[in-house]
Amino acid sequence: MTHMQRTTAEWKRLNTQHHLPPFTDHKSLAGEGGSRIITKAEGVWLWDSDGEKMLDGMAGLWCVNVGYGREELARAAYDQLLELPFYNTFFKTTTVPVIELSKRLVDLTPEGLNHAFYANSGSEANDTIVRMVRHFWNLKGKHRKKTIIGRKYGYHGSTMVSVSLCGMDAMHGQADLPFPGFHHVMPPYWYDFGGGHDVEEFGLIAARAIEDRIRELGADTVAAVIAEPIQGAGGVIIPPASYWPELQRICKEYDVLLIADEVICGFGRTGHWFGSDLYGIKPDLMTLAKGITSGYVPLSAVMVGDRVAETLIEEGGEFYHGFTYSGHPVAAAVALANLDILEKEKLVDRVRTETGPYLQQKMRETFADHPLVGEVRGVGFIGAIELVEDKKTRKRFPKYGAVGAKCRDHCFANNLVMRAVRDAMVFSPPLTMTKPEIDEMVSRAKTAIDATARDLGKM
Ligand SMILES: *Cc1c(COP(=O)(O)O)cnc(C)c1O
Repeated sequence: MTHMQRTTAEWKRLNTQHHLPPFTDHKSLAGEGGSRIITKAEGVWLWDSDGEKMLDGMAGLWCVNVGYGREELARAAYDQLLELPFYNTFFKTTTVPVIELSKRLVDLTPEGLNHAFYANSGSEANDTIVRMVRHFWNLKGKHRKKTIIGRKYGYHGSTMVSVSLCGMDAMHGQADLPFPGFHHVMPPYWYDFGGGHDVEEFGLIAARAIEDRIRELGADTVAAVIAEPIQGAGGVIIPPASYWPELQRICKEYDVLLIADEVICGFGRTGHWFGSDLYGIKPDLMTLAKGITSGYVPLSAVMVGDRVAETLIEEGGEFYHGFTYSGHPVAAAVALANLDILEKEKLVDRVRTETGPYLQQKMRETFADHPLVGEVRGVGFIGAIELVEDKKTRKRFPKYGAVGAKCRDHCFANNLVMRAVRDAMVFSPPLTMTKPEIDEMVSRAKTAIDATARDLGKM
């Protein structure tokens, strides 16, 4: 294989010449000498083409829940590829892994979600949901119920419709989005939006921002609210306990469907199977991706609640929607093997009762008194460390995001993968991470945050 014999420098050059990686400033990347080339992985560790070994504090992109190098998943894919590599599920055909996975997902997800619709990414699943929701309200004769409300810093994907669901200004700006009919309100992000309110009081205020918007627009025009149980890519925003009960009350009162985007929270990330279990959410629709296969192959699913499913089935006729790879048998086989691992190794329980509390405790005790750290928050195996100019007043650094980027570079230089969202350092490691590996991750994070503090003259 000649392509395996190139040097790292050649790969880097070719990568910059011919590859446009996503969410990348290509010009500045080229200036910085290009991308790091990841060549293999095992457990919670990554290796690059220079032989450097890195600790993956992000589980890839919030997805490699069972860790790297799991032979069970490789074997499930291999066996399925030989047995039946592909067949579609469009025209009165289906495949065994897809049936088995559907039953399994229905049993795992909260009560009332009894049907699965498949796609290949979180973005496609959310596009699917928007189509379903519109179709649903049309069937109900409520033709004006079209608007979907999301939150600022919400992340729901990168297709035109899923970006419209997102509350990310920079993404909107480049493509003249959001489309009409997509609104965004304040997130339950006490650290930036809480002002002088106490946390629980602020949770109610943030939920009522949705109520206010519904009233402003008229409930007869609002189709649904979409929300991640914990906002992930927007900075790991943990809602106050008061938020979700109030938001559910509001959706019920105004007859607005509730969509729980569980793409990050799902499959054990919080120490519960789903973020909905953690917060007692009873969604009408649920988005699943990422951890569904631990990222080994692409797959997503929309879990459809009885109210929507029954209307679609009883009154909807043919639903003119689907993807060639909706219900890909190889992806479904990998998802089944992934669920086997999560269950057999009791990873969700372990994160809830043992390693999750250990990680959270360790992060808090390491950074509570750190001069650069305003808050450590998180649950299970997801969390964030807020870097701030003034701990007491929650005052931000003048160029919001620059300190986070600096710290991220220090992490990278220390062979720790953590991500910066504005000035929050976020972590979301594989659920298999052990206590000694947690110690190592926290220690590397401390090295990076100390170095950042020194750069700023704060240590
Ligand atoms: C990653 C993500 C998506 C989009 O998934 P893709 O597979 O990247 O399209 C949607 N929602 C949430 C909450 C996500 O974190």
